[in-house]
Amino acid sequence: MNGQKYDAAVIGGGVIGSATAYYLAKQGKSVILLENERLGAQASRAAAGMLAAQAEMDADDPLFELAVASRRMFPELAAELKEYSGIDIGLQRKGLLKVAVNEAQAEELKRSVSLQIASGSRAEWLSGDEARRLEKGLSEHVAGAIGFAEDGQVNAPELSFAFAKSAALLGAEIREYAEVRRIAAVNGRIEGVETRAGRIACDQVAIAGGVWSGELLADLGIRLPLYPVKGEVFSVVHSVPLLTRVIFSHGCYLVPKQGGRLVVGATTREGDYDRKVTVDGLLELMNKAQRLLPGIAGCEWEKAWAGLRPQTPDGLPYLGRVEGLEGLYIAAGHFRNGILLSPITGRLIAEMMAGSGAEDERLRPFRPDRFAEHERKGR
Ligand SMILES: Cc1cc2nc3c(=O)[nH]c(=O)nc-3n(C[C@H](O)[C@H](O)[C@H](O)COP(=O)(O)OP(=O)(O)OC[C@H]3O[C@@H](n4cnc5c(N)ncnc54)[C@H](O)[C@@H]3O)c2cc1C
Repeated sequence: MNGQKYDAAVIGGGVIGSATAYYLAKQGKSVILLENERLGAQASRAAAGMLAAQAEMDADDPLFELAVASRRMFPELAAELKEYSGIDIGLQRKGLLKVAVNEAQAEELKRSVSLQIASGSRAEWLSGDEARRLEKGLSEHVAGAIGFAEDGQVNAPELSFAFAKSAALLGAEIREYAEVRRIAAVNGRIEGVETRAGRIACDQVAIAGGVWSGELLADLGIRLPLYPVKGEVFSVVHSVPLLTRVIFSHGCYLVPKQGGRLVVGATTREGDYDRKVTVDGLLELMNKAQRLLPGIAGCEWEKAWAGLRPQTPDGLPYLGRVEGLEGLYIAAGHFRNGILLSPITGRLIAEMMAGSGAEDERLRPFRPDRFAEHERKGR
């Protein structure tokens, strides 16, 4: 056991754990961030980086308010992280088109525009021709689109690293290849964590282990259901600009990156823990992408990859403290929006750990014990 005692240990060096460590370090807490492999090597590296608060959620979704608040944090955060770490997270705020490729989808999107506008958000319905005037490369299959001027994107791996590096510069200790094997608790209080290299003493623990977050809790008799939803992605390079905005459609999105890259995602395979890229997955994506953007056919191949989105049974993340075990907090299950939700998650969890914000009513739907409660009620 090393002699130092930390205020907090954060388990998992993906975007969520790194953001949590960053906001804790900003409060002046002594923090250690423990990552099983390399920092940001799992879902956070696979992400396309969309900040699609409005494209991903309807205004009546319990996550909508948090998602919009998180998106709003990015401009200031990008400058702050650049200042601390020197890393440019590639924030682009050029908007997003959520497109329909048939009349049924168009009708559905029109209903969602009304909801969004009623909630006070900016959204605009565009006919197929209006969408093609904005993005000339879109095909005739596009029957209409919602323009979300405030959705945008970042470079996901850079965001993770910028959070971690900034946390380190603020005093956090970062350990890679440091798998946490057990959480040590005595008399209902956190005492530390056990790693491959021995015990680390701390008063508080935040679990941000992505889809693996439930494993450490099973030991403590706490059930935190999570499952993987594998997503495959590929990228191409183009010499003439193909798109300005993110194009988001049912089962396929196109994300134009700096330097003439275009990221195309993503397949959806529930329960699949392997990260192999399959021919089947790529064919599915290529066909959908070419139907939306015929010009992609002439692009140069770059690479393909896959990652595991951490999903929960009700599609909402776990955010908050674990009742009955003082000092234990969870930030996991962000499914397909962990990049977007990382700033608000890190900030809220750090505030809860500091003893403020814990009673926030808006966080009720995200309580980590919500399934345990149902089970108890059901008995
Ligand atoms: C293909 C794809 C595209 C996506 N696109 C977007 C997008 O455009 N926009 C968006 O907002 N989101 C997107 N997402 C979702 C986003 O990537 C995830 O929600 C987010 O990365 C989850 O972050 P995390 O830190 O919880 O998990 P992870 O990044 O998986 O990190 C968890 C970390 O915990 C570590 N760990 C686990 N157990 C332990 C342990 N016992 N000890 C130490 N370390 C441990 C793991 O090694 C891992 O590094 C996408 C995801 C995928 C797969």
